[in-house]
Amino acid sequence: MWSALETMPHWTGSLPGQHLDIRLTAEDGYQAERSYSIASFGPGERVELAVDEVDGGEVSPYLVEEVRPGDFLEVKGPLGQYFVWRESDPSPVQLIAGGSGIVPLLSIARARAVAGTAQPFRLLYSVRSAPDALYADEIETLGARGIPTEWIHTRLAPPGSPRAAGRVSLVELERLTIPPSERPLIYICGPTAFVEATADAVVAAGHPPLRVRTERFGGA
Ligand SMILES: Cc1cc2nc3c(=O)[nH]c(=O)nc-3n(C[C@H](O)[C@H](O)[C@H](O)COP(=O)(O)OP(=O)(O)OC[C@H]3O[C@@H](n4cnc5c(N)ncnc54)[C@H](O)[C@@H]3O)c2cc1C
Repeated sequence: MWSALETMPHWTGSLPGQHLDIRLTAEDGYQAERSYSIASFGPGERVELAVDEVDGGEVSPYLVEEVRPGDFLEVKGPLGQYFVWRESDPSPVQLIAGGSGIVPLLSIARARAVAGTAQPFRLLYSVRSAPDALYADEIETLGARGIPTEWIHTRLAPPGSPRAAGRVSLVELERLTIPPSERPLIYICGPTAFVEATADAVVAAGHPPLRVRTERFGGA
């Protein structure tokens, strides 16, 4: 069922990690539909989204540059039962995000921080450079809330960083994430190539494929 984003009369709340679909309709009737993860979670009529503007894209530049308060958007959701976290699951959790893939993982991290449950949680966040990170200030607070975070800068390391810029290596991945012996549930989200390379790497590191949940945002 499609409903307007502002009023959301049919919105039932969302689980950590879920997404919704947004449908735009042009004056000539042309429609474009894209998925966006929900950074917020739980009941309520408001949802929080974070959209990364893709150059030349049909939908994301409109959402980032054009949409104004009061505009009408059609949304469908919440969607997805697989890439979600339930606080009743006692498994350790390793979150691995690339770029805007942080959005559903932040929702999961927020839910864990609010639940205050005891299972180990860790976040590895890969960004091109520090200014490209979404929610950087909030992520810096996660360590104090029981979710230690590791940063990977792939193109430009922050000044004074002991790590040179570059993609995460298998050795680093093993050092910076919860080991296979603890049987963590692993959530990986981001651009398709990042997700596929990272999922292959964690399986090569010894994690069972069935413990690895992935969400691909598209792109090269
Ligand atoms: C389940 C799910 C959840 C998502 N959640 C989010 C979210 O929280 N925030 C967010 O910003 N995006 C999210 N996305 C991606 C989003 O749905 C769109 O694909 C993205 O906004 C680009 O749409 P567009 O219409 O602007 O570009 P399009 O017109 O679809 O594509 C234009 C060009 O950009 C490339 N491209 C498409 N998507 C990407 C991408 N993600 N990265 C790089 N290049 C791309 C295409 O290959 C094409 O060449 C999610 C995708 C999925 C499947």
